[in-house]
Amino acid sequence: MNKYAVDSHGYYGNFGGAYIPEILHRCVKELERQYLPILESEEFRLKYERLLRDYVGRPSPLYLAERLSEKYGCKIYLKREDLNHTGAHKINNTAGQILLARKMGKKRIIAETGAGQHGVATATVCALMDMECVVYMGQTDVERQSVNVEKMKMLGATVVPVTSGNMTLKDATNEAIRDWCCHPQDTYYIIGSTVGPHPYPDLVARLQSVISREIKQQLAEQEGRDYPDCLIACVGGGSNAAGTIYHYLENPKVRIVLAEAGGKGVESGETAATIALGQVGIIHGARTYVIQNDDGQIEEPYSISAGLDYPGIGPLHASLAELGRAEVLAVNDDEAVRAAYELTRLEGIIPALESAHALGALPKLRFHPEEVVVLTVSGRGDKDIETYMRERHQTEP
Ligand SMILES: *Cc1c(COP(=O)(O)O)cnc(C)c1O
Repeated sequence: MNKYAVDSHGYYGNFGGAYIPEILHRCVKELERQYLPILESEEFRLKYERLLRDYVGRPSPLYLAERLSEKYGCKIYLKREDLNHTGAHKINNTAGQILLARKMGKKRIIAETGAGQHGVATATVCALMDMECVVYMGQTDVERQSVNVEKMKMLGATVVPVTSGNMTLKDATNEAIRDWCCHPQDTYYIIGSTVGPHPYPDLVARLQSVISREIKQQLAEQEGRDYPDCLIACVGGGSNAAGTIYHYLENPKVRIVLAEAGGKGVESGETAATIALGQVGIIHGARTYVIQNDDGQIEEPYSISAGLDYPGIGPLHASLAELGRAEVLAVNDDEAVRAAYELTRLEGIIPALESAHALGALPKLRFHPEEVVVLTVSGRGDKDIETYMRERHQTEP
């Protein structure tokens, strides 16, 4: 038994569980009962593998970045999730969950989205599978992320603007949960990261674990050993990181570094550095670290990167941080922007702002020349070009 895996009560050590309204109890139990038998069935595996290969475009390359390696004095491989269909790792999860929803006989899909990336990945697989799709999104985010809103509509989804609270992700999540409460029979809720009530964190981690399964195979071919010395990934809710580390958690030779969003600085009041600041609380149905004030109210987080702008963190990652299995670094906005420009100039790859936080961890670490580092580029930077142009002055000395 993997000591870092979720236990039979849905906990990773002190974190996780399912803190949900009574009315959802049956839905969540039904999912808990069905997800493993379905995921492990031959029928599911064949369908999912075919989708990942022919639709998503997997395996994604493991690319030895020579100029970046030279700069940091070690051997850096980039896991290229930016090359997936729709431009990020999120499709690995939505493609799996929609197959699960269909197998469970559900007719209607709901999702919440902040920046719109998970909404687009959900609307994409709903179009593919001809399923009704409703995406809840805070009104503020609808205004900030018009391109993703248009993409979701073009894909046939209904985008519902949420006007409660701060009109951002947290409020959209509450609204999605309310919808699920009203339609527990026919509706499946696709959660976009390793967050939410058990079994979602485990379900999403298993679906994203294709990332580390491929890394093992690709490193064996390219390096003659199937593990790196160090893994680096960014963490919002934690799904690309969970996928990157999944098959290495029990190998103590593999150092794990997670980069969370420092925003304007951990002490600035404008941050999303949940591990650095968070106290234990309940968010999105799970017990984990949460950025909250003295009254226990969840604080509005801030990051230049919309995908990392989340006031909680997956219970798996909270546990790994508490146990010391993962080192968690806060990377600030300016450090991420500099790192994105650096990768672009050295390797000709424009990373997503989220992924730029993983790259921004490199200058904070020390390596030996023979060390093998694998860093996950979770998405591509097309969606962030406006921000990069606006912040270009950050790159000047
Ligand atoms: C959503 C997103 C993230 C953050 O989500 P995780 O669940 O922490 O992986 C990171 N990178 C990109 C490109 C994203 O779209």
